[in-house]
Amino acid sequence: MQFQAFLVKYAEIGVKGNNRGMFEDALLRQIRHALRPVEGKFQVLKTSGRIYVQAESAFDYEEAVGALKRVFGVSAVCPLKQVEDRGPEDLYRQVVSYMDQVYENKNLTFKVECRRARKNYPLHSQELNAKLGEVILDAFPEIRVDVHHPDVLLRVEIREKINLYSEEIPGPGGMPVGTNGKAMLLLSGGIDSPVAGYRIAKRGVKIDAVYFHAPPYTSERAKQKVVDLARLVARYSGPIALHVVNFTDVQLYIYDKCPHDQLTIIMRRYMMKIAEHIAKETDCLGLITGESIGQVASQTMQSLAVTNEVCTLPVYRPLIGMDKQEIVELSQEIGTFETSIQPFEDCCTIFVAKHPVTRPTLKSIQKSEARLDSHMEELVETAIATAERIWVE
Ligand code: ATP
Ligand code: MG
Repeated sequence: MQFQAFLVKYAEIGVKGNNRGMFEDALLRQIRHALRPVEGKFQVLKTSGRIYVQAESAFDYEEAVGALKRVFGVSAVCPLKQVEDRGPEDLYRQVVSYMDQVYENKNLTFKVECRRARKNYPLHSQELNAKLGEVILDAFPEIRVDVHHPDVLLRVEIREKINLYSEEIPGPGGMPVGTNGKAMLLLSGGIDSPVAGYRIAKRGVKIDAVYFHAPPYTSERAKQKVVDLARLVARYSGPIALHVVNFTDVQLYIYDKCPHDQLTIIMRRYMMKIAEHIAKETDCLGLITGESIGQVASQTMQSLAVTNEVCTLPVYRPLIGMDKQEIVELSQEIGTFETSIQPFEDCCTIFVAKHPVTRPTLKSIQKSEARLDSHMEELVETAIATAERIWVE
């Protein structure tokens, strides 16, 4: 059976009144965006509170379903057969033909559930349920009815046209990107931060990203890996403005002036400061990191507290209570893992001390930072001013 349309279902919790229009418009926009790279021509439309995707040419079914399954806000994707209303007799034939084409093996149980959204249809829903059940039973000797746990639940919706569907492919849930403001993701080349971005985008938040690059200590290839990761996250979040900050001079100056066991913490404080500055300039309402308590020395409770101290915007850490293995599984699920494990150096690892502090105090860190004079301010300003902006989609 070659389906020509999809019904897109979305969770309606919290989608009421004025919110509803905004929610649906964002969903339409994200669906169109997701379908853009898919082979085929599609129309995405909203009619009487439902969202339909109609193919207007031959199209790649697997790709289209794959794309729709990545759109946040979608609770299910239903491949749909739409037929014109030519009266009940014609509908009986269409329903039998649907069952015949979609289910090769008829050794199954089924149930018909009709919804008459158009009240002028000659039969009531209950009458239609009974009648359609009967014609299906008559057509296929092996098939049986099970009203409690059917293998196939065939839904028949009488609208302007008649919709037939029986498959609900689960979507990712969440809310359409663009319904909940924008945040700045600190995106490294690792496993964690792409997953963190995914998690926050899932709540409807648009994502921008910042990557701290330290040439020549980190290579062009390491930067390309981050661009590749941003592109993978963008498959869910929509386009990402990626800011690449040249962090080398800042790092070298810290290396020069501060105790080496505190390098990572001080460096991370500067990363947060710079990220926050760019975030505020670009209307982001928060920062996002891939931190998880206790994962490394810079992510102990003490280290997180000291890092967080420089921020005035909220810092969202969606992986904070997750184990590495859980994060790895999620990254495999969303398709970022393979890229994340490519072996390219990270700017944090290059300057990392053998025995970094794991219980820094704010006082001791501030004391070390006092050695960084006005020259540091200049370096930070230059880093911000020279950041490269890459549009990733
Ligand atoms: P990840 O797997 O995301 O790289 P990680 O386990 O390597 O995380 P850290 O290196 O301590 O942990 O980084 C913690 C968080 O800080 C990252 O999740 C990311 O949000 C941010 N971060 C680290 N390095 C960079 C970088 N070079 N550019 C941008 N953000 C970074
Ligand atoms: Mg990292």
